[in-house]
Amino acid sequence: MTLHIPFDNTYVSLPNRLFSHQKPTPVRAPKLLAFNQSLADTLGITGTNDPVELARFFSGSTIPDGAEPIAQLYAGHQFGNWNPQLGDGRAVLLGESNGYDIQLKGSGPTPYARRGDGRAWLGPVLREYVVSEAMNALGIPTTRALAAVETGEEIMRERPLPGAVLTRVASSHIRVGTFQILAARQDIEGLQTLLDYAIARHYPSASTSAEFLKHVVAKQATLIAHWMSVGFIHGVMNTDNCAISGETIDYGPCAFMDAFHPGQVFSSIDRRGRYAYGNQPQIIAWNMAQLATSLLPLENNSDAAVEEFTNIINEMPGMLRRLWQDKFASKLGLSETKDSDEALISQFLAIMADQEADFTNSFRYLTDGSVPETGIETHKDFTMWHAQWAARKQEQSTTPEQVMAKSNPFIIPRNHQIEAMITQAIAGDFDLLHRLNTAFASPFSIDSAAEYLTSPPTREEKVTQTFCGT
Ligand code: AMP
Ligand code: MG
Repeated sequence: MTLHIPFDNTYVSLPNRLFSHQKPTPVRAPKLLAFNQSLADTLGITGTNDPVELARFFSGSTIPDGAEPIAQLYAGHQFGNWNPQLGDGRAVLLGESNGYDIQLKGSGPTPYARRGDGRAWLGPVLREYVVSEAMNALGIPTTRALAAVETGEEIMRERPLPGAVLTRVASSHIRVGTFQILAARQDIEGLQTLLDYAIARHYPSASTSAEFLKHVVAKQATLIAHWMSVGFIHGVMNTDNCAISGETIDYGPCAFMDAFHPGQVFSSIDRRGRYAYGNQPQIIAWNMAQLATSLLPLENNSDAAVEEFTNIINEMPGMLRRLWQDKFASKLGLSETKDSDEALISQFLAIMADQEADFTNSFRYLTDGSVPETGIETHKDFTMWHAQWAARKQEQSTTPEQVMAKSNPFIIPRNHQIEAMITQAIAGDFDLLHRLNTAFASPFSIDSAAEYLTSPPTREEKVTQTFCGT
């Protein structure tokens, strides 16, 4: 038996100006580093679990039967600047299985590669593998990781580094930028086709462009509230990295915060902090405004459509505020929120910020005191805040501890642990990779083997910058 993927490819039936047929480039010596069997089961993949064979397929060296590899075209605003043409420069979509896209990332250059080599190095591939799977286990919509394969080839970055390919799974790879490129080219027919396709695939209850926009806005608002609630910073929320499905996509310089600071930025290229932790709610509204703009030509740019779309976008900050409040209220054990909870939440965040307290552990401290002190306890306002919080919890009909246990993970992928895992992997040791994957599969529980993952970085371990890894 050989690998069998029950492909049913729909994107290739769209107008062929939306993509290029592109085969992955075979690699020298593929070696399987990680394979996600439960995700493979979800996709209906059968036939082999031989690591040698899996490595050939998920490095792009052998193309599975039924695959129709393409590179997808899109454009986007990068750091607010319009880039009229992007596209998969180093990725190919093999096809779709059980409704999910299966994409190889780092599989060689495509017509959209510009000057890039079409490759990825081991670090970002393993980082995306671990972090995207951890996000999924945290209950946050995300693309998934099916496989990580080393290529046996060196690629040139600041220095020669081992090459790797990630197999990414998404409910689709349609981005805001996919709509933008068609609008910019005034390809109204293509735009309508893409809209119909995206509606059928993601929001079948929508029947107009305005309804579609509303669905995407609601999904993205939920997603960003979720990110905020675990201290996640995407780092590069360009419109080409913003999925119509509402899944987290394109893990580049992303990071989870240790010490809480609303202005936290890790990405080395985000010099002005456009994509800082606390800016994410505004940025997503900006991105949704770009989506709205790109849908307008379908309505002949009519005043009525402009007004309707504007109203949808204008409602987004309020919607996000409510979702944000619900998430943080749950973190404080409050399942029924009221307006005054916003102040209670903000005061706690201010205490954490003042003390540069660890975000994850501070909420765990409130949950069950199971972590060492984080510094919040010694803040001048903490006793008073704690009394208000205790009184507020009394008003709840649910058990606060139960609500908190489901909202406050013990562990998140901390930058220094990810970096340590990558350093080991470069040296050929994948022990930490496997240990992290095992631990992050259940972030709301802890055992002694995962206890070390609750520790914030020491001064020496602290990671202050992350990189795109392209
Ligand atoms: P990203 O910052 O990863 O979202 O990528 C932005 C654009 O650059 C996308 O069109 C990518 O496909 C492209 N790109 C990134 N890295 C490479 C590479 N090594 N080779 C070719 N294209 C790349
Ligand atoms: Mg991208």
